[in-house]
Amino acid sequence: MVAATTPGVTNARTALPPVADVDVCIVGAGPVGATLACRLAKEGIKVAIIDRADLQPMEHPDFDGRAYAIAAGPKKLLEEADVWDLLPLESCPIEEILVTDGRPGEPASSLFLEFTREDSTQPFGWMAEARALRVALNEALHANPNLTVLAPAEATVERKPEGATIRLHDGRVFQAALVVAADGRKSRLRSQAGIPLTKLSYGQTAIVCAIAHEFPHNNSALEHFLPAGPFAQLPMAGTESHPYLSAIVWSDKDGVAERFAALPDDVFAREIERRMGNTRLGKVTPVGRRWTYPLSAQYAQRYTDTRLLLVGDAAHGIHPIAGQGLNLGFRDIIALSDILITAHQNGEDFGAPALLARYQARCRPANMLMLAATDTLDRLFSNNNPVIRLARDLGIAGVHRLPGLRKAFVRHAMGL
Ligand SMILES: Cc1cc2nc3c(=O)[nH]c(=O)nc-3n(C[C@H](O)[C@H](O)[C@H](O)COP(=O)(O)OP(=O)(O)OC[C@H]3O[C@@H](n4cnc5c(N)ncnc54)[C@H](O)[C@@H]3O)c2cc1C
Repeated sequence: MVAATTPGVTNARTALPPVADVDVCIVGAGPVGATLACRLAKEGIKVAIIDRADLQPMEHPDFDGRAYAIAAGPKKLLEEADVWDLLPLESCPIEEILVTDGRPGEPASSLFLEFTREDSTQPFGWMAEARALRVALNEALHANPNLTVLAPAEATVERKPEGATIRLHDGRVFQAALVVAADGRKSRLRSQAGIPLTKLSYGQTAIVCAIAHEFPHNNSALEHFLPAGPFAQLPMAGTESHPYLSAIVWSDKDGVAERFAALPDDVFAREIERRMGNTRLGKVTPVGRRWTYPLSAQYAQRYTDTRLLLVGDAAHGIHPIAGQGLNLGFRDIIALSDILITAHQNGEDFGAPALLARYQARCRPANMLMLAATDTLDRLFSNNNPVIRLARDLGIAGVHRLPGLRKAFVRHAMGL
């Protein structure tokens, strides 16, 4: 910390500007918390957002290897929050999704499910790199005078029926009508509130990286179910050096995944090709760093406490099998910003128990449904039992033959 030089000021703490009281204090400036902050501030709601991490270094390519498939509903939210147009890299639309089942090194089963342009009037989603989203969020966070960004900073929160007091560890104190916990899977605010958490373990780890390939992906994604876990290929916008580029999320058994991730490039590339179930992308070359993420699901038993709401991964974490984790968080924000903007217009108290209950009623049932669906999908597909294999192959082929059902799946996944 820089020592104060102003005469009469002896302590750097006293040199910090005071933080004004706000309507909403958001703890956690990940994609969910940061988007909520931008959306609310745009409507004239006073917001403070706190993150214990420095936000600038999160823009570095080595910080996070994830690429998100952002569905149509969440894309609209990012547009309304003035974030989408700040994305520094082109986002690739997903216009086809092929769902297949098989074993490594074998062609996919002839029973498959394919979502095509006929199933929807717009793309199923848009691929955006985590770091590109970070660049856009960092810029948007600093563009609104209603928004105070406190990062890196830590805070202690005291919540009472009449209001919340936030004490920053640098000594500054301010009040808020509502505190939103957007502090991720290990949410401290959730545990301090004594909200019980249920965890589901998969014994799987995801390998995430980019691949270049011989043939164009034509904006098509692949979800190939394998006995050890699903393998997903997601189309990315190409670069000058790699015109045909995709992201992969390869889920495999814990311990095994880490060994695969450490393989030399050429062997790793062959293992990827063995897991695609088809040869439509041709020869594959890994690009850049590889990341591994242990997979689990979890859900909070409730989303509310006195003047507190949980959003995003603080409320729910799901298997990335359907690429819906962040989308669920964004759907929380769509519902919450709608409720808070209406409350703001009507002069309602943001921490009123009825308002908190409205949020939970709008989000938790749909989130639990998505958690159950992704959990069932993973358990149903991540095994090698021949009877189950036949049943599920008939199931996916059945859905393929019913355009009405295909369209219903698509609308739900797109958040429309
Ligand atoms: C392998 C993998 C692939 C995925 N792929 C997809 C995908 O394709 N599509 C998709 O929609 N989702 C995907 N997800 C899920 C997605 O990454 C998460 O759902 C998303 O990051 C959640 O965002 P969040 O803002 O809620 O939490 P986080 O991103 O975890 O952010 C929490 C923030 O809170 C801060 N924080 C934590 N504790 C404190 C504290 N005490 N005080 C202050 N700040 C604090 C942290 O520094 C952090 O900035 C994937 C996940 C994995 C593991």
